[in-house]
Formats: sequence, C-alpha cells, structure tokens
Amino acid sequence: MATDVERPGSHGWFNLCDRLETAEINPQLSSPLYNGRIPAEIRHLIFEFAVTEFPSPRAKIVKPITWVRHSHELAPIPGTPNPSAVGHVIERVRSRIQGVVRPRRGMLPLTLSHAPQPGDGFDWLRFDNTEPMEVGTALLLTCRRVYLETYNLPLSQTEQRFYCRRGPPSRSNGAEGPRTNIDQFVTSWLSNPSLVPGMRQKDLVRSVRLFIQQFWLEDKLLHFVQSDNWFANLEHLRITLRRSDWWDWESNEILRINPFKGNCCHAHTISLMHRDMSTETGNVEFSVGAWGRAFSHMSKLKTLTIDFETSEDKRDEMETLVTWALKWRFPLSDGRYLSTGGQPADKMSWRGLPHHFSHKCVSGCRLIQYRIPGQECPKCSETRQLISQGYGPQLLVWTCIWKPVQGD
Ligand SMILES: [Zn+2]
Repeated sequence: MATDVERPGSHGWFNLCDRLETAEINPQLSSPLYNGRIPAEIRHLIFEFAVTEFPSPRAKIVKPITWVRHSHELAPIPGTPNPSAVGHVIERVRSRIQGVVRPRRGMLPLTLSHAPQPGDGFDWLRFDNTEPMEVGTALLLTCRRVYLETYNLPLSQTEQRFYCRRGPPSRSNGAEGPRTNIDQFVTSWLSNPSLVPGMRQKDLVRSVRLFIQQFWLEDKLLHFVQSDNWFANLEHLRITLRRSDWWDWESNEILRINPFKGNCCHAHTISLMHRDMSTETGNVEFSVGAWGRAFSHMSKLKTLTIDFETSEDKRDEMETLVTWALKWRFPLSDGRYLSTGGQPADKMSWRGLPHHFSHKCVSGCRLIQYRIPGQECPKCSETRQLISQGYGPQLLVWTCIWKPVQGD
C-alpha cells in the first residue's frame, strides 16, 4: 500500500528526498568515490562536471572558430571560396552540416531579402552561445546516495539563458521557443516545486544570462525583478547587449545607453547621456524607474557582467561608452554597491553573420546597401562579397564585470 509520501500531492509531485529519508541507503563503500580513496572535494568536482550543460548534437555552431579573437585587432577578410561549381556545392553542403545559414550565390542578403528568422540563428547563435543545450542527469539515477548528493546540481550550477524575444524556436512546431519568453518559462518550467522543501525550482537558480534587447533592459528588467523576485537569489547575472540589440542598429544610429535615466529610444537622450558622461564621477542620481536600480533587488550578487557588442565601424563610439560604463556604480542593499573596481574591459572579437550588417553602408556613400549595383562604393562591394560567403562584419565585444563593495 502506498504511503502518504509516495502518493502524489495535489500538484502531482512528491519529494523523492523525503522518501529516501526512510529508505535504506547503500553507503557504496566498495566505490573509490566513497571509501576514502578519492577525497570528497574531488568527488564533488566530478559530480559537478557530470551534470554540466553541453551542446546537443542538434546544436548550431558558428564556424570556423578561428574567426574568434581575444583582442579587437582588425580581422582579415575571409578568402573567396572555391569558385568552381563543384567547390560551390561543397561549400553549400558543408555550411548545411555546420548549421550556419549561407545565402545562395547571387541571392539578396538575408537582411534585405527577408527578415532573418529565429530558426536561422537570428539572434541567438553566437561564437559563445548555441542552442539547444542539454544536461545529463544519468548520474542521479546511479544510486540513492549519489542522488541525495546531487539532486539540486542541474539547477543550481546551470546558467539559465533567456532571450527576451527572438530566441531559438521550439523543436516541436518551430514557433517561439520556451526560453524566448522569460515570464512563460519561469511560470511553466521553473515554478514547480524543487526537492528542497519549501523552495521552487526557480529559487535554486544561481546564475542567469540575459540576451536582451535594449527595450527589455530599459523598460522591463526593473519591473520584472520587483514583481517576482527570484532574481534575489542570483549570485551571477550576465547581460549581453548584442550588435542587434541597440536602438536603431539597423540604420547604424548612434549608440546610447544610460542606466541612470532609462529608456534611450529617442534621439534627445543622446545629449542627456553626454551630459551624464561628462560629470566628474560619471555617476548621477538614478531616475525613478531607471534600469540601474534593478540590481538593488539582488543582494546576493557576486558578479554582474555586461557584454557590449557592436560592429567594427563603431569601435571608437563604443570605446567612449565603455570607458564611461566602467565608472558606473549600481547600488545594492545595506549601503553596498556594484563597482568594476577600475578593472578594464575584456576585449573579444569575432566574424559575425550576414544579418549583423546594418542596412546602410557604413562608408562615405551612405547608400542603402546593395540596392544600386554599379553605384556601390568599395565598402559596399566588400560587404556584398562577405554576405555571399555567409559572413558578417567583424563584431567587437567589451566585457565589464562589477562586484559588490562597501559604500564610502
Ligand atoms: Zn557604400
């Protein structure tokens, strides 16, 4: 006869840990993991490794990886592919195997022929990110002792990624995938009870990465953490502002962001930003509702990381902006605040994908690219060539890290 513990509750769940408390547990003393031959610290590392996320065999990957650099040095222009008909076919087949979208020769670039689709990798496929990822949980099934030691590892040590729109599509029907809508993902997946009594799964999450369009950062983040603050348990938050997340990136408009003011959609915010930038400390009062206030609701944060990404032609503009960002101080509770401590930004670069080109030529001609063959400038011509090979502009990434410090 089933006991109360074994019978599913009204939510359809029962707590296996509670069940195992009264069960016989084999101490597994014949195993070197438990008989003292392997120290417990090493055993924990092995178990953590066993449940570390890894790319699914179906995952798309940006290749070749040689285009990723640990600097902002100018990247060489990729060579022209084999021009023979056979070479072209080989190239197309290879690109399909690699899962990277490459337009047919002579086809209009993706940015103009049709809006790039999430299934193509827009805008989540990156040199440092792919989907789908998998977590192996076979370790938890090996024995009761191991289970009791590892049951919360898959959640507590996996970085949860959210795309806040334009994420990878669902496998079943190609519609918006589950990680594209953070509210829905949390409600549908992470609000179930966890194996820690009284806690929901979302309460066990310690690390989150947000691939975030600027409107979401400015208009949603603060409201989000105030309304359902499981973010309060986060120890590591990473915000990645990609090339295509900035306001009006399609027309290559001026980069603008301001954690003290909030929404920077309109052009007049550029002068406000420059005014705040030019203050002595680079810090001003936070307006009500400014996104920089969001971190004050995350008192357990150990690191806040922000990636600032743009294309090669906006290098100087972003450099100025990041120099300011490194001065930003975000208030936490208890008088502490987040600071970069004067540490410089880490610099990476990679060869982006075709849809990372803006619609407007970045050179002097200012034409809408590719629309007027024969009138294009050398830069337009180079861009067209890159797109035909499946490449985008060189993208530069500045990564800044804030850590909590005591107030003055
Ligand atoms: Zn041009």
